[in-house]
Amino acid sequence: MQDQIQKLPKVELHSHLEGTINPKLFHEIAKRNNVDFDEDIFDENGGYAWTDFPSFLNAYDSVSSCLKNAKDYRDIMYEYLKDCSSQNVIYAETFISPDHASDCGISYNDLIRGCAKGIDDAQLDFGIIGRIIVTCVRHLGPQKGVDVAQKMVDNPHPYVVGFGMGGDENSFKLIDFAPAFNIAAKANYPCTVHAGEICGAESVW
Ligand SMILES: [Zn+2]
Repeated sequence: MQDQIQKLPKVELHSHLEGTINPKLFHEIAKRNNVDFDEDIFDENGGYAWTDFPSFLNAYDSVSSCLKNAKDYRDIMYEYLKDCSSQNVIYAETFISPDHASDCGISYNDLIRGCAKGIDDAQLDFGIIGRIIVTCVRHLGPQKGVDVAQKMVDNPHPYVVGFGMGGDENSFKLIDFAPAFNIAAKANYPCTVHAGEICGAESVW
């Protein structure tokens, strides 16, 4: 059975690129970028340490902070798609967060350039097709959401196939982000959103 599942061709439609960085790759990138990090982000087994959603987001942000340039994004995209391919995933869409990249000093265009290179290299080496969903971050607020959507629309790339939002559902109301989603929808980007995962059905609308 395990063998049959392994052989089945699959699609992966929900992942967050910065969240796919495994501890080994994190150490590699942090070292070459001379980034100091708090050892507390790891548990005693070398995995990431978190106990609830806010601490998960904290670990996520700490790990993302090791990323400093387009090559880092190329490498994490490539490694992620290589990993997917080893499980016979033939198509994968992954969320990327321009706000995380911007916090690390990486421009939107460098972010996309790095990711696209990782996608091209992985397709060449493993045959897998990768695509990108650009996301804003809910707890950073509606204006940041508008900025991300506008940047995406102003800089179209064939590998960017949708717009979405992640982050802490306790922050703001979904309706506050309508202007951001309207920008994406009017430019014909399919939209998706994380909602109802933490705060229940009432946070969906
Ligand atoms: Zn998600």
